Amino acid sequence: MCLFCKIANKEIPSKVVLEDEHVLAFHDVNPQAPTHVLVIPKRHIAGIGQATPEDEAALGRLLLAARRVAELAGIAESGFRTVINSGANAGQTVFHLHVHVLGGRAMAWPPG
Ligand code: AMP
Ligand code: ZN
Repeated sequence: MCLFCKIANKEIPSKVVLEDEHVLAFHDVNPQAPTHVLVIPKRHIAGIGQATPEDEAALGRLLLAARRVAELAGIAESGFRTVINSGANAGQTVFHLHVHVLGGRAMAWPPG
């Protein structure tokens, strides 16, 4: 079972921000901004590059959960960034789909 599946089923502890039947949001262990939360589907999807039409509802839920995380963290007004890394060049290291929600500081564009 992958790392984030273990976090989803509480085999590995995390600092949970939001949870429902389908999604879990938890603090990134190595935060890159004052707010850095990961949002995952509880059901394993390896990444956005492996998503299928059957994942349509799951993908929608992830972004709506990301929005809710930003509201809960108080960064919805000041601004936040949602990131999905896919594959080697993007720096994906955990192959269970996750949306990074980053905020609490100004961020540069384009990303490095
Ligand atoms: P990515 O590079 O997009 O695949 O992002 C993986 C993220 O997972 C990184 O930001 C890591 O800091 C984070 N991470 C890895 N292990 C854990 C963990 N046990 N709990 C919380 N975040 C983690
Ligand atoms: Zn998984």
